Amino acid sequence: MGSRRNFLEKLTVSAVGLPLLYHSNPLFAASEAPYQGPVLKVAIMGLGSYGTRVAEAMKDCKRAKLVGVISGTPSKIKDWQAKYDIPKKNCYNYENFDAIKDNKDIDAVYVITPNGLHKDQSIRVAKAGKHVICEKPMAVNADEAQEMVDACKAAKVHLLIGYRMHYEPKTVEVIKMRQNGEFGKVKFFQGQSGFTIGDPSQWRLNKELAGGGAMMDIGIYSINGARYMLGEEPIWVTAQETKTDPIKFKEGVDETIQFQLGFPSGAVANCLSTYNMSHLDRFFMTGSEGWVEMQPSTGYGPIKGRTHKGELNQSHTTHQTLQMDGMSQLIFEGVQPIVPLDGEEGLKDMKIIDAIYEAAETGEKVAISL
Ligand code: NDP
Repeated sequence: MGSRRNFLEKLTVSAVGLPLLYHSNPLFAASEAPYQGPVLKVAIMGLGSYGTRVAEAMKDCKRAKLVGVISGTPSKIKDWQAKYDIPKKNCYNYENFDAIKDNKDIDAVYVITPNGLHKDQSIRVAKAGKHVICEKPMAVNADEAQEMVDACKAAKVHLLIGYRMHYEPKTVEVIKMRQNGEFGKVKFFQGQSGFTIGDPSQWRLNKELAGGGAMMDIGIYSINGARYMLGEEPIWVTAQETKTDPIKFKEGVDETIQFQLGFPSGAVANCLSTYNMSHLDRFFMTGSEGWVEMQPSTGYGPIKGRTHKGELNQSHTTHQTLQMDGMSQLIFEGVQPIVPLDGEEGLKDMKIIDAIYEAAETGEKVAISL
């Protein structure tokens, strides 16, 4: 056994320079038996920048496959058909996609359009009897999110939110460490999420399409992160808004908000969400026995981090590949990620966002009930 392992290790090292030998070697082929289980057949709605990233990542999925598109731009449909080998019968636009209900070759639709469109589009997908995967934020407020949850329940389809970090290996490791008590009693989380937004005419700065500003788009990572890192649900929030550019960040479009969340154990979170500062992607958490710092903490990776025990060294895999394989496993086998990512989970974040906006506007401490 030992000599076989040595042989394999040597072969791996030598294979670095000889990729053909590595791939054609029967020893390695034997250990990578082809996957023969169910494959989630997915149509992507909204062929924009993130939709493209998901499509590319899905090339490496074994449990999920891109088979269809829904788009308002005919030229993109044509490009994607050629690039991803998508048959014409699996191509739709925003007017006719309800007909997807008669298409047995599509199991799920991944909604990757501007936030303000998610609710209506997701409900139409559910009514067509297809599973809904919806990008974050799942809607523009908790009432809309609740409608989506109810519609998917009524249609007996899954509603999953694109929380890719719930499958990210270093994040999963930190959550496991916290669950195992390795940080002791966790007391404080700090989340900083932001970037400097460009083009003032983009939908992210349009209240109707975005539902808000930085909080909806990037601050949500600190909200979701505070919950999965601490492992508790917040019971109150306070918040303060700063706006330095009221022309770019119009009424209802938040530029920078600092917020504080309180948790039943007494733990607190202190977070910053902004569209007007660069390089903000950092989580820190400390407890009675240890601490963790992650930077970058939620970008596309590789995520980097260290704890009181040393560097986090879990290997990087494209987040969206892990996510789509994981969602397929969830749908077909009921295997849940370490932290849920269903509609109820997304609804909790929307309730917190509603409370943050209320706290920022009134200056009051707002109670949260999830
Ligand atoms: P883009 O603007 O790049 O793409 C959005 C696409 O939606 C468009 O290309 C268009 O595709 C379609 N669309 C339909 N109606 C409209 C409209 N009225 N205005 C503009 N676009 C429209 O945005 P992103 O891809 O960056 O973001 C889409 C969603 O994905 C958002 O909810 C965002 O929060 C989320 N996201 C999530 C990330 C993550 O890491 N989880 C990262 C980035 C974004 P078409 O021409 O095909 O109709």
